Amino acid sequence: MRALIISDIHANLTALEAVLAESGEFDAVWCLGDLVGYGPNPNECIALVRSLPNLLCIIGNHDAASLDRIDIEAFNPEARTAIRWTQNTLDDGSRAFLKSLPEKIELDKVTLAHGSPRHPVWEYLLDTRTATLNFDFFSTPLCFVGHTHLPVIYSMSASNHMARLSIPDANQLLALPDRAIVNPGSVGQPRDRDPRAAFALFDTEANLLDYRRVAYNFIEVQDRMAAAGLPKRHIQRLAAGW
Ligand code: ZN
Repeated sequence: MRALIISDIHANLTALEAVLAESGEFDAVWCLGDLVGYGPNPNECIALVRSLPNLLCIIGNHDAASLDRIDIEAFNPEARTAIRWTQNTLDDGSRAFLKSLPEKIELDKVTLAHGSPRHPVWEYLLDTRTATLNFDFFSTPLCFVGHTHLPVIYSMSASNHMARLSIPDANQLLALPDRAIVNPGSVGQPRDRDPRAAFALFDTEANLLDYRRVAYNFIEVQDRMAAAGLPKRHIQRLAAGW
């Protein structure tokens, strides 16, 4: 089976459309949360994600905050502004969909979580120490996460006590290790200094991961964000991917 893995769309419809146009055929979609927050098209992004075949989707911290499930004070001032805007923009159908999302999904070979398997909604996996601790919190060979907006693979071998970090190149086909935590990067707000939308295609039988990047018209998105009155910093960062 070929699964399209997308995360952190953040209401960036143009980036999501570019990913879908680039991804070719797939049998299922695994969406790792943060469909909304930051970007100008939350309802359109949710509608498009919902229309995808064999969708599995989990909730992210921005999704939870737009449902008032997380104290908005936990976010920085600009993120708070974006969350308030999102709360006022979401329609009933979108809100009901976000409400229906679980925090974690476990399949035969794969666990899906937004931040980490230990604390699915909030924890950031930014270093090998935190990643190492998290290997005790899932029992499947692989765990896919998002949240940091940085493509990365943490692998663990039987002879190692510490996870090893590797950063995949854009458009690289990789044989995944037997046990790993994998982040496909962010569709709608990449933060690795590459503004192109990031996603991955996973061949579940061959255990091969295709890391992909696709350029999209971020100027169009920036214009819509400005028209919506969304924070300047969030508009600027799309151009450089930070
Ligand atoms: Zn995010």
